[in-house]
Amino acid sequence: MKIAFASGKGGTGKSTIARTFANYIAKDKHVSLIDADVEEPNQLLFFKASTTEASKPVSLPIPVIDNDICSKCGACVKFCNYNALSLNKKGVTVFPELCHACGGCSMVCPINCISETPHEIGETTLAHNKNISLIQGKLAIGSSHATPLIEELLKRAPQNKTTIIDSPPGSACSLMAVANAVDAIVLVAEPTPFGLANLETVVDVCEELELLFGVVINRCNMGNTCVLDFCQKHDIEILAEIPWYYDVASSCQPISQLESHFNTQNNPMQKLAEAVSKWEAEC
Ligand code: SF4
Ligand code: SF4
Repeated sequence: MKIAFASGKGGTGKSTIARTFANYIAKDKHVSLIDADVEEPNQLLFFKASTTEASKPVSLPIPVIDNDICSKCGACVKFCNYNALSLNKKGVTVFPELCHACGGCSMVCPINCISETPHEIGETTLAHNKNISLIQGKLAIGSSHATPLIEELLKRAPQNKTTIIDSPPGSACSLMAVANAVDAIVLVAEPTPFGLANLETVVDVCEELELLFGVVINRCNMGNTCVLDFCQKHDIEILAEIPWYYDVASSCQPISQLESHFNTQNNPMQKLAEAVSKWEAEC
């Protein structure tokens, strides 16, 4: 089963909770952890890898115009919906950062003077530690192609029965790339009006895609009850509530520090694991 951990905004603790949960369930089975927060991945920083493979580049095919033979007819520029081509006195200029690599311009060129060249948009790195295989995507500096990088990352991820995906924050295209590939989403929210406003946007995404989802309230001992009230009003399951701990926030070693606060009587990760088992039975 593929489960994404998502949030309407950054800073909710989504990555920490995804990692802590992966660590928790990896005690008795193999788990894949995918860091799809490609603009600022950080799971590798907290992962004690026994082996790390060399990073592999991810590229998109970007058009190259042979301006020596281009007739300047403008058909390719007219076709491109993304303004990635510009016609000028010397011929056609390509703006790789705007190109979506659809291949359409080369198809409409009447004299076949458009070829393609790989343009690097980022890389993936695979690491292993006991029962967890971690794969991280990292966007190249200056690249805006988060969505195709995430799609490629998901293809390269090791196949395990359980896959945890640390999604990019927000509810834009990069989240959609993840949401379209998973069976269920754990929404991590903080109990503040701002946290609620952002939660509402990702709830809309889950409902639109008819995904299984529930909410984890992080830092539940802070803020107010607005997220709880919202979930109760809309019949959204609260999967777990996790308090804020000063030592976790200050140590920057979230796995061991956060888990050290949980005990067998009250373990939010256990509640989350039970909810995931229920989802697995439904899928
Ligand atoms: S490949 Fe598609 S997006 Fe890129 S320049 Fe050509 S038409 Fe535009
Ligand atoms: S369609 Fe081909 S010939 Fe026409 S402007 Fe574009 S590259 Fe040049």
